[in-house]
Amino acid sequence: MYHSVDHFDEDPHLVTVSPARFERQLAWLRARDLRGVGMRELLDAHAAGRGRGLVGLTFDDGYADFATRAVPALLRYGFGATVFVVSGRIGTYNAWDDGPRKPLMTADQIRTVAGAGIEVASHGRHHVSLPRTDDTELREELEESRAALEELVDGQITGFAYPYGHATSREIDAVRAAGYDYACDITPEAPSRHALPRTYVGDRDGPLRMRAKVVRHELRRRSRV
Ligand SMILES: [Zn+2]
Repeated sequence: MYHSVDHFDEDPHLVTVSPARFERQLAWLRARDLRGVGMRELLDAHAAGRGRGLVGLTFDDGYADFATRAVPALLRYGFGATVFVVSGRIGTYNAWDDGPRKPLMTADQIRTVAGAGIEVASHGRHHVSLPRTDDTELREELEESRAALEELVDGQITGFAYPYGHATSREIDAVRAAGYDYACDITPEAPSRHALPRTYVGDRDGPLRMRAKVVRHELRRRSRV
């Protein structure tokens, strides 16, 4: 689970990985015969028994640096990824965050990354914590974001990521009912296709920490099979 790939001076919420570190992390994966892919490809491959050696790479919030820095590096490695876009904030900035302002992808940038084979998925409309919404707002966050993104990329949107990783059984049921095929959580109490666990990767993650995170994630994944 990544957010932003960019140079930074301050990063209080630890959401930014420097371009040089990101490049080394991709090289680290490739050196171990691991290939980064989007979540839809990862889930399809697992279902077909071809999941070995694949690592799902996700980028939350849809920062502009995803288009300008992350995607060019991913494509150089032949990797894919999923980007979770906040549909009501396209072309603006991370107004929900009290950290440094970061620009979000424009509609053109989103169409360009989709055209490059990157999976575009939904992170809701306004990046609100879904357990705090009423039923109408919850439905709008899920259904309107999906419809807006489908129109934007002229294709199906099948994935969702819960803002802040906040999801109770109510939100998980609502995401399923809204027609999403899968959803990414962070540390779900009961992992499922609509509450997939993810592992945070940050700027401090060099080879030793990467290795520990891969092992831990694999144990976590297997323990529920
Ligand atoms: Zn987010």
